[in-house]
Formats: sequence, C-alpha cells, structure tokens
Amino acid sequence: MEITSLSLSELSSRLSDRSLSSREITSAYLQRIDLENPSISAICHILTESALLAADQSDERWTRGIPRSMFDGIPFAIKDILCTKGIPTTCGSRYLEKFIPPYNATVVEKLLGAGLVMLGKANLDEFAMGGSTETSIFGVTRNPWDLARTPGGSSGGSAAAVAARMAPFSIGTDTGGSIRQPAAYCGVCGIKPTYGRVSRYGLVAFASSLDSVGAFANSAADLGSVYSLIAGHDPLDSTSINHPSSPISFSNPIATLPFPLRVGIVREHLDHEGLDEEVRKSILQAIDLMKSAGAEIVELSLPHSHYGVPTYYIIAPSEASSNLSRYDGAHYGHRSSHISNRNASEAASPLIDMYCRSRSEGFGPEVKRRIMLGTYTLSSGYYDAYYLKALRVRRLIRRDYDEAFSKVDVLLGPTTPGPAFPLGAKIDDPVQMYLEDWYTVGANLAGIPAISIPCGKMQSGLPIGMQLQTPPLAEEKLLQVAHWYQTTIDYKPMHPSDDPSNRFELGEGKGSR
Ligand code: GLN
Repeated sequence: MEITSLSLSELSSRLSDRSLSSREITSAYLQRIDLENPSISAICHILTESALLAADQSDERWTRGIPRSMFDGIPFAIKDILCTKGIPTTCGSRYLEKFIPPYNATVVEKLLGAGLVMLGKANLDEFAMGGSTETSIFGVTRNPWDLARTPGGSSGGSAAAVAARMAPFSIGTDTGGSIRQPAAYCGVCGIKPTYGRVSRYGLVAFASSLDSVGAFANSAADLGSVYSLIAGHDPLDSTSINHPSSPISFSNPIATLPFPLRVGIVREHLDHEGLDEEVRKSILQAIDLMKSAGAEIVELSLPHSHYGVPTYYIIAPSEASSNLSRYDGAHYGHRSSHISNRNASEAASPLIDMYCRSRSEGFGPEVKRRIMLGTYTLSSGYYDAYYLKALRVRRLIRRDYDEAFSKVDVLLGPTTPGPAFPLGAKIDDPVQMYLEDWYTVGANLAGIPAISIPCGKMQSGLPIGMQLQTPPLAEEKLLQVAHWYQTTIDYKPMHPSDDPSNRFELGEGKGSR
C-alpha cells in the first residue's frame, strides 16, 4: 500500500513500530505536492525544508522513545488564514501579501507541540469570504476531480490537498460552510466543531461570532483523531468553551453505535427547490441505509431555515466590516505608496487619503462588497432594520434546532444544493454564490457542530456530500454516527488520483458539462 493511502491511525502505528519514518512519510507527501500542485494550486506556500527538518526531529524522538504524541511525525497542511510564526500568512489577500506573523495560532501550537509536521499553507478565498477559492492573490484552486471546476471555498486549498493526497489531513475554517462545502465538492470528510470548541486565537478574524476552526480528512475516524488534537479550552480566546469533557479522545476508531439512534430529516431541506435531483436521491439512499441498519427516521421541520442565508449575509458582513477596519495601512499589511497630488484643501486629510488608498489597493472586490454591506447594515438608521433584526432571526433559527434536537439525536441532509460548479460560473453573480450556503449557514448561526461526509457520486463522477448535525458539544456522537455510517457502507476514501480515468483534465471538454 502506498504511504499516502494510509489512514492516520495506520501512519501512527507504522511510526511507532518504526516500519516507517516521518521523513519517509513527509517525503511521500512532498512528492505528491510536486506532482499535483502545479495543476491544482491547493498549497500556496510549500514548506519543503522546514518540513523535512521537523520530520528528522520527529524521527529522532521516536528513536529515543520520547514521541510527543501518537501522531508525532505526521504531516498536515493548514489554511493560510491561521497565523504561523515566521511563515507568511496572507489570507489570500494583497493586503497581507507580505505579512509574517510573530506568533503561532493556538491550533498550530497544538499540532506542532504534538510533533506534527507542517507541509504548507493552503489557498483560500480572500479573507475566507467566498465559496469557490477563486479570489486569492495566488490564483484559483482547482477541483482534483475536474480541473475545470471549483473545489469549493473558502477552504478550497485545504480540501483539494486532502482529495489529491497532498496531505493526510488539513486544517480549515468554517464561518458559513467553508469546511463542509469544499469537503462535499472534493469527496472528503470535513468537520466544523461547536463554536468555541477549537480556539480561534491566531485565526485572522472574518465574522467573530461565526468563525470556527476545523479539519478535513479521509474518514470520520481520521477526523476524530485530528479533532482530539485541536479541541480544548484556550484562555487566549475569550469565546473558548471551558467544558469538562473537551477534548474528546478518539485514539481508537469508534466501532459501534449507541442505539436507539433517532435521525432527523428536515422537510425544508429535502423539499428545497434548489436541490439537485441526483443529490436528493443520494441523500434518500443514505436515509434508507440508516433505516435498514436500525436507526429511527423522524421527519421534522426547521421553520426558519429559509431565513438562514439572508440572516448570515447580514451578520457576517457586519462583523467583517468591523473586523477589517483594523487594516488601515498604518499598523501592518499593505500601505499605498501613492503620494496624493491633491492639494491640502482638496484632500480631507493626508492620513485619511492614505487609509483609503491602502484599503482600495489591498482588498479585492468581494471583500470590499462585504465591507460596504456590513457598514451599511451597522449604520445608524439601518442598524435596527437589518442587523438587530438579523440577530433576532438568528435566535429563532437556534430555537428551531433546540426544538429539533429535543426529538432526534442527529440531523441528516445534503451539504450543498448540487455538485462542484464550473470555475467562473458564479463569480460575477454574488447571490448565486451565496445560495450555495443554503444548507450550511444554519450550523454557524446556531453554533452547533456539523460534518460533511461523502455519500455517493453524480453520474458525471463528481462527489456528493451529506451533512450531519448534532446539538452543541456533541462532537463525539457526530463523529460516532459518521464513523458508523462509513463502517456500514464499507467506505473507502475516494481519490481521483487513484484512478486517473476518474479525472477530467482541462481542455477535454468534459469539465464544462
Ligand atoms: N461562503 C460563505 C461566505 O462567503 C462562507 C465562508 C466561510 O465559511 N468562511 O461567507
């Protein structure tokens, strides 16, 4: 078996019985990056030298019998929005093109502290605002299943890296679906934990009440391993949850399911007119399968779910406009070198002029759109009508979930309305792009954990994802149910590179279907 096909627990046992070294594992993934990244562009900073050095240090620890954790020496990729000390953290933005953080995000500290090896930083939509990974200064990331299509976004690089076996797992962020949607489009597994379960310290803020850090991997069991490494209370993040049971340990894959399991099917989700027929069929098959394996299926309603996208697109831009006001050209990041030729009486002030120019030059069109939308919805006179109202609807959405979870253990439905769409198809139509988030924003608005796992393929061969959601802090159950489903169907991770005939190359004309 190839090194890059091994699960995290297999890698861990091969490291501990010394039948594989971290250098061998790390080199195998770096070779995959060399091979695949030129066409996919998932990784925007490849850290070959420091990764090999870290791998050698890990091997030395294993030789001396003092590994830092059972995952010591396993490599990973991380979205370029989490601060990495001494390594560029650009958020895909011209504004932060030259930014090199002086500290590590807590997630990075945890992974490096457990001996893991950072392979590279993964591409994203600028400041994580988007759903297609088309707006980064590093250019577009492509879907490994079809190079003419999007990998999804905003964590498209992290998802594509796992799908193309450039990393055994990766870290992403999810504010409105940015882990689950790309996981669905790329045929991998992705988890967005409960808000506050994984520290946001060192995550460049987009919408602080919605942002969560999570992961991509090849299976629910692997996600459990990564989750156990990154979850937990962090005093450096004031919204971090100090819950006695966190972090949960998934060192051994979970085999059995605690019965009876009540699985909720949301009427509004399956009846939604935007849902692709093939995706609907695939979800119905997963429901049947769960039913025949012994789960009780309960149909229920989330009556305010159709307000999810409008509510999210008021709250997220409002918070973004406030968070991004720190980029003034004075403290860090891009500063315009343009010298105003307006005379002192024309320019409001040279300082304001510098702010304006720096921001105009540094931010791309989608980020500017969010700042303008958010500034409008927070402005006096409109605050009550938009922002305050959105907060109220958010509360109703959370209440819907509370009500649903009084009847069921887990909710099952589609992750996205359809499969990965062609690159360029929605970039000029923001509303169409925003509608891709129909099924995912609810979990962020309610703060609950959610996962996307593959549940089939389109006739065209593109992957389909299904979403599972549980009440807050029930990650263990969420992962258990996902693992149980994958065990029941004898799930094997899907990778386009395993069978090159799976892959639509650019220019073959298939990508445009
Ligand atoms: N697509 C959503 C947006 O553009 C979600 C982004 C995210 O989760 N970071 O805001």
